[in-house]
Amino acid sequence: MDLKIVVAGPRGKMGATVMNMMKNHPEFKIVALLDYKTNQALADFNIPVYTNSETCFKQMAPDVLVDFTTPQASFKHITSAIKHGVKVVSGTTGFSKDQFTKLKKMTNYNNVGCIIVPNFSLGAVLMMEFARIAIKYFSHVEIIDKHHDQKHDSPSGTAIRTAELINETKKVMNENNDPKHETIQHARGATYNNINIHSIRLPGYMAHHEVVFGGSGEIFTIKHDSISRESFMDGLKLAIDRVMNINYFIHGLENIISIND
Ligand code: NAP
Repeated sequence: MDLKIVVAGPRGKMGATVMNMMKNHPEFKIVALLDYKTNQALADFNIPVYTNSETCFKQMAPDVLVDFTTPQASFKHITSAIKHGVKVVSGTTGFSKDQFTKLKKMTNYNNVGCIIVPNFSLGAVLMMEFARIAIKYFSHVEIIDKHHDQKHDSPSGTAIRTAELINETKKVMNENNDPKHETIQHARGATYNNINIHSIRLPGYMAHHEVVFGGSGEIFTIKHDSISRESFMDGLKLAIDRVMNINYFIHGLENIISIND
């Protein structure tokens, strides 16, 4: 059976890749586009374009909203989707802590499936998982994120999520009084959860991350490069499949795929 999908951000780089993927997918049917302006390129798709999310969800009653826009726009789209019982998969990054907490609360309160994924690439998820393991063995870590110069947010959602996952392991180890894990407090890049993150924004890059661990006389680097936006499509498909079977909030692709199986 076809899944009725609304794509928000169709003029964007990710939106265009998503539309291309869905065009060839046997079960995904784009029933409407959500944008804040319309142009000829959108008209050519022959799919209704809405500038108001409330009207869009009320009239089209889609199964899923897929959103690649900006944090402000995505926050608005998601809250209105949840209000109308529309499931959500958002790849938008840069939500504030407050926005994120509100979305999580609202989703769980309304029993509507919502998945927010800072990086849909399967390789990036493996990088994050390996980083979570590696921090058990190395006392120091820094993260480098390199992206194209049009990326709005820095650090990247992936760099932030990697730092969070590393800290989850560190917290457990500190609770066990592991003496190796002191707080890192050098002022290079920006610190997030006490981890230095360096963000480079230059034309030529797509999306690249390195998690660099330092130990006694050795450096251990985990590196991931997305060289095309196609790299995000397999993870996105998995998230859309998954959201159809849940009525709660999930953050991160690592909570969708079973890495340890
Ligand atoms: P982009 O090319 O700038 O696309 C964003 C699009 O959203 C633009 O067309 C923008 O229009 C549009 N937009 C802005 N406000 C809107 C609104 N109120 N309603 C509808 N559309 C609106 O950026 P991108 O590279 O596609 O990335 C989009 C988001 O996805 C970013 O947050 C990025 O970090 C994230 N991303 C996530 C992943 C992942 O795997 N999760 C991968 C890549 C990127 P205007 O340009 O006219 O303002």
